[in-house]
Amino acid sequence: REIIVVDNVTKVYRVGDVVTQALRGVSLKVFEGEIISIMGPSGSGKTTLLNMIGLLDKPSSGRVIIDGIDVSRLGSREIASIRNTKIGFVFQFFNLINRLTVLENIEMPLIPRGIPKSKRIEMAKEALVKAGGDVSWLPKKPTQLSGGQQQRVAIARAIVGNPRIVLADEPTGNLDRASAKVVMQTFLELNKIGTTIAIVTHDPEIANCTQKIYIIRDGQIVSIQIPDTSKCIL
Ligand code: ADP
Ligand code: ADP
Repeated sequence: REIIVVDNVTKVYRVGDVVTQALRGVSLKVFEGEIISIMGPSGSGKTTLLNMIGLLDKPSSGRVIIDGIDVSRLGSREIASIRNTKIGFVFQFFNLINRLTVLENIEMPLIPRGIPKSKRIEMAKEALVKAGGDVSWLPKKPTQLSGGQQQRVAIARAIVGNPRIVLADEPTGNLDRASAKVVMQTFLELNKIGTTIAIVTHDPEIANCTQKIYIIRDGQIVSIQIPDTSKCIL
């Protein structure tokens, strides 16, 4: 079953007189339970594509269908609700809020859902352990943790609401090899329990751990490669 369908999506950015065609008719389908990666040169449209899939921004034309719902027909409030319940995001620079504790960062996506505090703490703990972290981090500030540890907290925040889809933009781009390995291990474990995962990466040793590598160049998917699992970072 297809959980993500991108159908002939284009994206044009206009900044003053500068027009950038970031996506030029991209189509792809990701099946439920798949783990895929997206590779390509800087500026080729990888982040833009991930933002379209993640409903962070609207295509200029074409359709994005998430879990059978054609999002192009929906209003922004309905789109936000799909994003918040079905999708978790992980970023290169973690995007944690440094003045909040680790616990407050992780539980944040649960607050708009009206989940009571005690339940939020329980869910945050479970997510942090699943993400390869340690509950002793919960009262700390993110800046008291290493980069690798902060990324585990960010993954915990992404998965705390049990999303069906996790999207990651260069999740290991700022990490040493050992931390990158832990992060990839975590993604594979999440995938094993049925989470669909898409990872934008420059790192062949990350892409080779996934099931399919989409190569994007100048706003178009130019090939789909079969990973060489012997070259996976694990
Ligand atoms: P990648 O992730 O592969 O590096 P991006 O998707 O970030 O590529 O960018 C694709 C192209 O679109 C680039 O030329 C970039 O400068 C441009 N772009 C991306 N986001 C914006 C934006 N918000 N406004 C204007 N141009 C943008
Ligand atoms: P990445 O490291 O994933 O390639 P970028 O540095 O391309 O990310 O983009 C970071 C942010 O800046 C994104 O939100 C993107 O939409 C925005 N952005 C990228 N290029 C431009 C641009 N030319 N003009 C305005 N915003 C941009």
